[in-house]
Amino acid sequence: HQTATAAKVLPTPTKEQPLLLNFNENSLGMSPKAQQAVVNALPQAFRYPDAAREQLIEKIAESHKLQSKNISLGNGSSESIQAVVQMAIYQAQKAGQKVQVIVPDPTFNYAELYAKALGVTVIKVSLNDKLAFDINAMKKAADEFPGLSIVYLCNPNNPTATITPADQIDPWIKASERTLFLLDEAYAEFVTDPRFHSGIELILKQHKNVVVTRTFSKIYALAGLRIGYAVAHEEIIAQVEDFISLDNTNAAGAVAALASLEDKTFLTISKTSVETARKIVTNALNELGLEYLPSQANFIFHKVPGEVKTYQDRMKEYHVFVGREFPPAKGWNRLTLGTPEEMTTFVSVLKEFRSKGWV
Ligand code: PLP
Repeated sequence: HQTATAAKVLPTPTKEQPLLLNFNENSLGMSPKAQQAVVNALPQAFRYPDAAREQLIEKIAESHKLQSKNISLGNGSSESIQAVVQMAIYQAQKAGQKVQVIVPDPTFNYAELYAKALGVTVIKVSLNDKLAFDINAMKKAADEFPGLSIVYLCNPNNPTATITPADQIDPWIKASERTLFLLDEAYAEFVTDPRFHSGIELILKQHKNVVVTRTFSKIYALAGLRIGYAVAHEEIIAQVEDFISLDNTNAAGAVAALASLEDKTFLTISKTSVETARKIVTNALNELGLEYLPSQANFIFHKVPGEVKTYQDRMKEYHVFVGREFPPAKGWNRLTLGTPEEMTTFVSVLKEFRSKGWV
């Protein structure tokens, strides 16, 4: 394991070895136990993955105090989001209902993309002046619609890395039986703010209008192995399953995810690493007087003076790939939190930018 506290300076990034801080990956790399599980599973990978897949579903269910029938395993949570959106649209149309999707703006856009592919209207509700969800405006859009609204809420949100407190979401869900809430909790494991509650708590209380998606791509660093899942009431999961690709789980991903769930040490290291990396970045942003939002995920949304595209291009010249601007949030850049070592390197480049008058 790399230790999360030793913030050594890495060699300067090069064309061949750039610093990748643009896709919210976990550059700590997966747990060594997960890697070993993949190696051990390879000789049997000519078989279909059913056994490991079933075992993983059981283990995920157990981790949430739920049952296997409350879990739909996805090829990454992207597939789970796709299946939930397609299922809800299909069910509404089958019942002769109108259907629309409501999303905050900016947010992670897969729900929007999958809905648009089916010709469904997507209502985009801008974040408020604090770059938080405008819950009242989203609620109004749902209340005024004579049909099914699918409300996608990413919590913590991507690209802002901020949470929406449960007391803003839960009362709305409880009062809106005919609205389907898709809560994307891809980054939930990084959250320390007690005002955040997982939507899984509502599923445990038998609410049928909530689906939560989770992933192994972020906290467990398995992005390339594609394991995610949806959690919901069993009746909803049964409908979601109709839209999932059969045998969607690769054997390597399944065993790596199982080993990750058992590796509590890695979970702690992964969280601590991001906290250390975040501190390195926020210290520098404070020193440089660059505004940022309170990050509760493995990335941070911060202001840059001037054109964000210019900043991004200049970083690229230094072989540092930072995230991009997410209109309508103009003037803000999304930065993935790599390892503490990587962020120390990033900070030295950022400080060089200051000395050149670029930030
Ligand atoms: N949801 C959010 C908010 C994300 O940021 C991402 C990936 O960046 C995903 C879902 C998709 O993750 P995956 O399909 O790897 O589970």
